[in-house]
Amino acid sequence: MDLKNLTIEKAHELLSNGKISAVELTSHYLGQIDSKNKELNAFLSVHAEKALSCAKEADVKIKNDQASYLTGIPLAIKDNILVKNEVCTAGSKILENYKASYNATVIERLNRENAVILGKTNLDEFAIGSSTENSAFGVTKNPHDTERVAGGTSGGSAAAVAADMCLGALGTDTGGSIRQPASFCGVVGLKPTYGAVSRFGAIASGSSLDQIGPMAKTVKDVALIYETISGHDPLDSTTVPNNSKLLDRVEEINIADLRIGIPKEYFEAKGLNAEVKEIVMKAVKWFESQGATIKEISLPNTEYSLPAYYIIQPAECSANLARYDGIRYGQRSKDAKDLLETYLKTKGEFLGAETQRRIMIGTYALSSGYYDAYYSQAQKVRTLIKKDFMEAFEDVDVIFTPTSPSTAFKIGEKTADPLEMYAADIFTVTANLAGVCGLSLNCGKINNLPVGLQILGPWFAESLLFKVGEFYEQLR
Ligand code: GLN
Repeated sequence: MDLKNLTIEKAHELLSNGKISAVELTSHYLGQIDSKNKELNAFLSVHAEKALSCAKEADVKIKNDQASYLTGIPLAIKDNILVKNEVCTAGSKILENYKASYNATVIERLNRENAVILGKTNLDEFAIGSSTENSAFGVTKNPHDTERVAGGTSGGSAAAVAADMCLGALGTDTGGSIRQPASFCGVVGLKPTYGAVSRFGAIASGSSLDQIGPMAKTVKDVALIYETISGHDPLDSTTVPNNSKLLDRVEEINIADLRIGIPKEYFEAKGLNAEVKEIVMKAVKWFESQGATIKEISLPNTEYSLPAYYIIQPAECSANLARYDGIRYGQRSKDAKDLLETYLKTKGEFLGAETQRRIMIGTYALSSGYYDAYYSQAQKVRTLIKKDFMEAFEDVDVIFTPTSPSTAFKIGEKTADPLEMYAADIFTVTANLAGVCGLSLNCGKINNLPVGLQILGPWFAESLLFKVGEFYEQLR
């Protein structure tokens, strides 16, 4: 059987009809990893034995008609999400040998369905970065061009899906880390609304921004994973019960009634590549040809989003990373003479340069005397950005933007200048600051490199994003 470019939807059908077993499917993807991972470095660890025994159980469930969509489906998990008894590195030397003692809630939910976890994928250290180049375990290469980055920070998950080493994956998104690598690798990625998916058991980066989300080859597959992992969790107090009212509204929306907002600040942005703009505008025009109404809108505080994000994220991340002190978790420096030296030397020895930079920026922004000028000011800007979205969503149903100002850049191209790397996040950080949901899907290619269309929706309007995305994917 030709399993090339299989989707979750199709695999589920094959499993249900007995055309293939979960064990066969799992063995196939383990083989794919075996032959491709050396070059791409998408997986940091592979749980072959456990995956096969989970697949065996899935086969029993399928035989007994107890299967759901994800039963027996091989998935990959970003290595900042805890899987019990498995190493979880967060892409950092400091956690190189750290074994998780419990499952993240999203893993519990996948296990309940007997989804098959193949292994853990590469990421920028502590989900800090935009290219997976900050991983302590080497860069992940883009399957479309191995001289280029897969994007980040969920670069391993995106590359694993794109190179057909799994049927779907989980990533995390603090400022674009699901959407941007999805865009660079030509797959679909969702940053759910803040509070839609439990982060219990995800290693925190920026707590008021972080979300776990799915990546897969199609919008439908992303929706299937989302349905399984989302929902209220008593272990993460930021999760809210599902809002069924919004779902009703989505049912009522036809594409012909859809109002699409085109934010001028995004399309006029300085760094936006002209060809990327053209391809994204083509997708916009296509929706217009299907009857949708296109409206130019303004999100006037967009220009302050990167400065606000790059205060808030480092501030929160400096607080979150304080726990890696050489005492409680992971590695400890061997040449420290006393407690203070233990703290200092451990961080110096085992954390990468960008992570140390964020800790320093964040600590500075939070320190007394500077707090009001930086952190508190950035929070005020954040409120304005949120208000921009609230006002925009009174006039339009969804907002279309490019996911990233460029296609995948060359490995090493932006590592010398952190500001240039930060600028790559210009179209993605706003959704995290405002908490809204965002989907990235492929809308074309430039020189064989994928271009992503970002569809932003109001809070908890994931099903609207799926509806719009699926419409595009199926009819285009
Ligand atoms: N590139 C952004 C940063 O470096 C976002 C990372 C992410 O979403 N985890 O903070």
